[in-house]
Amino acid sequence: MKDKINYVMIDPDCFYCLVLSTIEVFNRETTGFLMGNYRKRTINGEKRNIVACEVAYPLQTAYRNPTSVTKGNERAFERVRATIPSMNLFLLGEYHSHPFTDASLTRDDMDYIKDRLEQIYGKKENLIKNYWLELVISINKKIYKKPHEIGWSWRDYPQKAKCNVKINPYLGYDLTFGGYWVFKDNGKIRKTQTTIYIPWVKDYWSW
Ligand SMILES: [Zn+2]
Repeated sequence: MKDKINYVMIDPDCFYCLVLSTIEVFNRETTGFLMGNYRKRTINGEKRNIVACEVAYPLQTAYRNPTSVTKGNERAFERVRATIPSMNLFLLGEYHSHPFTDASLTRDDMDYIKDRLEQIYGKKENLIKNYWLELVISINKKIYKKPHEIGWSWRDYPQKAKCNVKINPYLGYDLTFGGYWVFKDNGKIRKTQTTIYIPWVKDYWSW
């Protein structure tokens, strides 16, 4: 299990959905489900079992505020949740954005995830039993005095990762991705940060 949780890879389609849904509702928070699977991957010369985020689904019925986001329509939420295993997808957890603040979990986030973790406990439609993945995406607006070329760029950090998107010559967004596994340990809720791994970005830049 320890090896599996060290790296969380984000596939291209999933990544684009995370970026677009975070920018769309800025300066409010977005939220949605994350689905994925196991992969084998050689990282720094070592073969590892990793988890890949393959699909992100933003919840259209969520109530979005600048400092919080909630389920909104409980029945709609449950319909989506129940559809996930029917489509042969495995739930990894959820994602949400933090406009203007850090890509880390707040106390409120931990309380919410604790409840969600209890709901999914032991269910086989979850890829990793009793572990919940939460991706937190911080977003900040950038206003440029001088014109910049539109496009996007990427930077790796030891565990988090950062993306800058310039949507016009004077406006861009900085997005930082943080990944956390949340689990129960002796009845207490704990978190451990995982490494966000996006190797295909390098292929993209070498085109
Ligand atoms: Zn949060």
